[in-house]
Amino acid sequence: MSKYDYDLFVIGAGSGGVRAGRLAAQLGQRVAVAEESKPGGTCVVRGCVPKKYLVYGAEYGDAIKKAPSYGWDVKSAKFNWPVLRDAVQAEVNRLSGIYAGILEKNGATLYRERAELVDAHTIHLTESGVEVTAKTILIAVGGRPWAPNIKGIEHAITSDEAFTLDKLPERALVIGGGYIASEFAGIYAGMGVKTVQAYRGDALLNGFDTDVRKAVGEVQIRNGIDVKFNLSPKEIKKASGGYIVTFDDGSKIGTDLVFMATGRKPNTDGLGLEKAGVEMDKNGAVIVDEYSQSSAKNIYAVGDVTNRVNLTPVAIREGMAFIETVFKANKSAYDHSNIASAVFTRPPVGTVGLTEGQARQTYGDKVTVYSTSFRPMKNILSGSEQRCMMKLITQGKKEIVVGVHIVGDDSAEIIQALGICVKAGLTKADFDATCAVHPTLAEEIVTLKPKEPNKVTAVT
Ligand code: NDP
Repeated sequence: MSKYDYDLFVIGAGSGGVRAGRLAAQLGQRVAVAEESKPGGTCVVRGCVPKKYLVYGAEYGDAIKKAPSYGWDVKSAKFNWPVLRDAVQAEVNRLSGIYAGILEKNGATLYRERAELVDAHTIHLTESGVEVTAKTILIAVGGRPWAPNIKGIEHAITSDEAFTLDKLPERALVIGGGYIASEFAGIYAGMGVKTVQAYRGDALLNGFDTDVRKAVGEVQIRNGIDVKFNLSPKEIKKASGGYIVTFDDGSKIGTDLVFMATGRKPNTDGLGLEKAGVEMDKNGAVIVDEYSQSSAKNIYAVGDVTNRVNLTPVAIREGMAFIETVFKANKSAYDHSNIASAVFTRPPVGTVGLTEGQARQTYGDKVTVYSTSFRPMKNILSGSEQRCMMKLITQGKKEIVVGVHIVGDDSAEIIQALGICVKAGLTKADFDATCAVHPTLAEEIVTLKPKEPNKVTAVT
């Protein structure tokens, strides 16, 4: 009999924690999971899932606008925020219940309260005051929104509050140029909110391929978003009926809602990690090796708390690899290369592999770039100027595809399949040998011609 209360204690019932907890319980391990908020984590409760529903809601706004060009008479369409908000929250609660159920049905104990470490094997449950011990501990506490500490920051919301607003503002100012800022600016604009997106850099989506960044900037503008570059907020002041935000160049923007989408930080404050000998980096991320093992040998960490690739499916894969390593005697390191992902602007971004700049840095003049930009068929009748950008990057004589980037309708769906191609190391010749599916937007990916072969155009 083990001297510990549990074989595995998981802190955090998000994507990574629930997957690992459930798998360990199914292997017959004595498992407990603690969650201070609703089970499901950021993705289910205040991230990917509710966000995607809001994107769907915003897309209806766009579709209604374009519907007359397809013969529909839609004179009195009006968006009702509480209807969508409440429907989304009901779905979030349903999914959260499923997450809790998955653990409990498989025999894991779910503590619905905050857990903190006392030492490397002891966990303190802060509400009940109970202390339990575990042989192995998995830190899966995710991240939380971060905002700069400017004057008046208390007036701003973050993505945590965005899903349950009492009312939709008439004007919104979204600050940031990353995933969340770009997605929410698109959501608000689609819902008819007069939206400004203010970013401190000169192209949205820092770190993405240069052509994606340019295309997303155009997408936002075509959606009616007033995109402002090279602006950092300095102060938020309450004013009659709203707020005034002052920027570093002295300019001011009046708005009803200030949404700070200025990044996320690992959720490790006050977790007791130091007491357990777990080392963190300067941002508070748990430092782990390729097996997700921390500096304390019995403590592992997966997901956003490790600040590797902060995406739900990655946390799940890291959690699964952790189970293989620790409970199945099969040392497994999750391979973080070529992870496909999407940004749900309207239309979205789908991306996998290297940017052109990264490819050129890695492979020099062995890189060939193929790309196109066109107005998709769906936009012709409606007169929409929204375009689709596609880009494929290869390396070497064999022309192995090392990156694909799409900004266009359904690109989030398309990139999932293309991610398989890139992961499998397919070549441009394999793409060319594949027959097109007609008429689709995706067919362009098998007919791409070189852009300007081997000309250095980007560093991103
Ligand atoms: P991001 O890192 O994507 O964006 C943060 C933005 O805030 C950047 O534009 C950054 O500018 C800006 N910023 C940072 N500090 C300041 C500051 N002091 N003043 C003004 N602007 C500032 O973070 P998000 O919060 O949008 O998303 C966090 C992570 O969550 C993402 O990286 C992604 O991994 C994940 N996510 C994934 C989604 C998806 O898969 N669709 C959706 C949402 C989130 P700069 O670029 O100049 O540093």
